[in-house]
Amino acid sequence: MSQQVFSHVIVGGGYAGIAAAVSLARIGRGYGTLLVDRRGRAGYPPTSTSGIASYWLDRLGFPASPDAIAAPIRSFRLVVHGDPPEKLRLLQPGTSLAPNLGYVLQEHSFLGRLEREAIDGGVEVWHGTHAESARKIGDVYEVSLRTPNGLTTVITNWVLDAGGYDSRISRRFGITRELPDEDRHNGLEISIPNTGQHPVDQVTLYLGSWAPSGYAWVFPSSEEGKPYLRVGIGTPLSVRDPRGVPVAVSKYFKKFLGDFPEFNRPAHHRMGGVIPTYRPNRKLHRGRVLSLGDASRLTDPLTGGGIHQALASGVAAAKAVEASNPSAYEKELKVFIHEMRTRYVWKQVLLGMTEDEVRLTMDALVEMRLPEGKFSPYTMRREALRHLRARGLRPLKVLWRSGRFWRAIAG
Ligand SMILES: Cc1cc2nc3c(=O)[nH]c(=O)nc-3n(C[C@H](O)[C@H](O)[C@H](O)COP(=O)(O)OP(=O)(O)OC[C@H]3O[C@@H](n4cnc5c(N)ncnc54)[C@H](O)[C@@H]3O)c2cc1C
Repeated sequence: MSQQVFSHVIVGGGYAGIAAAVSLARIGRGYGTLLVDRRGRAGYPPTSTSGIASYWLDRLGFPASPDAIAAPIRSFRLVVHGDPPEKLRLLQPGTSLAPNLGYVLQEHSFLGRLEREAIDGGVEVWHGTHAESARKIGDVYEVSLRTPNGLTTVITNWVLDAGGYDSRISRRFGITRELPDEDRHNGLEISIPNTGQHPVDQVTLYLGSWAPSGYAWVFPSSEEGKPYLRVGIGTPLSVRDPRGVPVAVSKYFKKFLGDFPEFNRPAHHRMGGVIPTYRPNRKLHRGRVLSLGDASRLTDPLTGGGIHQALASGVAAAKAVEASNPSAYEKELKVFIHEMRTRYVWKQVLLGMTEDEVRLTMDALVEMRLPEGKFSPYTMRREALRHLRARGLRPLKVLWRSGRFWRAIAG
């Protein structure tokens, strides 16, 4: 058993880990950094639909190069179970949500380019390497790794845990814990050719009984220059049938594809995974072990989107390392932690609504307008509240009636 010494070890080369590696390289701390990932190459096979608002990519310093864009997103269509077929509920540029919508990223191109930048900046990357555990020894940390050549351990001053939802390191250090079934969504997705059955720059979200406590989606995409669609669904592990038996997400997916035969095509590839829809803790580090991205539950409890928070956590981790101050990590991430905790309350409101109330809410979202220049993906929440109140929908009343009040305010 050999042992090497690194200043920083990043576990996981997804959005959070690669963002941390690049950010360290950009501030001249690439040398002495090791990034390990169990996947054979950056971003492949994909683990995400990878839809993201371009706002975040620009703001966080990771603009997407043309080869990293699988498709542009120029509008969102919202469909609620029970809508009349002719109902077209569209969020389009010019509305509050959509002055500049975003992209579906090609995960391997986007992460591959950033990984090359990190390597050029001195970061050492080991693919096919599984971090099995980490422990504190005196003032440093020992990380045990299973590499293609066998077991090894490395010694480091900082552990940046970006190992995704399943990561054991954050749990081992008591930063996070297993989530309740209601706050763990199972996502399933197939990729199929788009032969004209869906617009090439639109996302459609399907709410209501197709995916209880979740939603189904169709995102535009492309493979080798040809238009594709990413058709998927997410429901929590807590969904049960009337006899109390848990219902697998695959059952809902089958039903959804039965209702929409235009998407029921042989899959080019399939993917799936757990999407944490809990709220992040206020403290996301223990000593010099920092928890990033999905490992720290920074995912949006309302939408399941976690890429921009993962990227932001990578940037914040590098800043904490630069400042030699682990507590600077949460300070940098404050706005994201606060927003995701607030969205957890909103998740309870949404889950407490009847299908008619969901319909009313979606209608209100479509009608929202924000003053020019004041847009950020987070300002829309305040506007949404104003619009809902104006239409007689009172979130507090929904919480009381549905019994979700204490769940919303606990913690
Ligand atoms: C089906 C699905 C669709 C989604 N769609 C979207 C979307 O459209 N937009 C959006 O914003 N978010 C989406 N999300 C959520 C988003 O994918 C995650 O929030 C985001 O990928 C989190 O990034 P991360 O780097 O924290 O974790 P991950 O992307 O999960 O990356 C973790 C990395 O760590 C590696 N790893 C794990 N354990 C170890 C270990 N022990 N040793 C070494 N390496 C390890 C993995 O190989 C992986 O590369 C989706 C999630 C799912 C499941």
